[in-house]
Amino acid sequence: MKRGSFIAFEGIDGCGKSTQVALLREKLSRMGYTVDVTREPGGTVISERIREILIDPKHSEMTDECEILLYLAARAQHVRQRIVPALENGDIVLCDRFQLATFAYQGFGRGFPMERLIELNEFAMGANVPDVTFVFDIPVEEAFNRMRKMNKLKDRLESAGDEFFHRIHNGYLELGRRDPQRVSIIDASRSIEEVQNEVIERIIPFL
Ligand code: ADP
Repeated sequence: MKRGSFIAFEGIDGCGKSTQVALLREKLSRMGYTVDVTREPGGTVISERIREILIDPKHSEMTDECEILLYLAARAQHVRQRIVPALENGDIVLCDRFQLATFAYQGFGRGFPMERLIELNEFAMGANVPDVTFVFDIPVEEAFNRMRKMNKLKDRLESAGDEFFHRIHNGYLELGRRDPQRVSIIDASRSIEEVQNEVIERIIPFL
């Protein structure tokens, strides 16, 4: 059986990833594909429990090193237990965030050395890189506006400072420039429909 396709979606919170993943799931299912939608951190029972630890606001004492290793522990389980079997089954895997998030948030955002992150990430996930990763490019202020409308902009996020999110946003763009074969940057400040059309157009060669 033909191996499936592994497609990751990246960008800062509020860029529209989940909206597009949901639309794409519907579209691809209608086209007859078996689609597995998953997310990071998460996607398996163990990885979702790690996610709860990571996002718990009570855990403000968590060190950067602990945070990185928890993200990677969640990924190690997710890749082996869910993503690889789905791909072997011929499915299309749509994953909300994957390895670029580690490089953008922990690397560009928190300033952790990139070579070290690449090495640790490789240990966690082996050679299972996505066939294509979409980076949703949107100005930080615009993403914050969308989140504000949903009342989803958490004080914690805003207080982390615009500066942090600008570093992440620019980091994502830089990661896209470094790996144009595998990373596709999408202007996500347009309407839901325009973004959807472009995602579908760009995804066809990878199906
Ligand atoms: P993410 O998963 O990247 O955090 P979401 O898909 O949850 O982002 O979108 C954040 C908010 O912005 C939601 O309220 C969503 O309806 C809205 N949204 C998503 N895409 C667009 C768009 N292209 N234009 C305007 N609003 C959008």
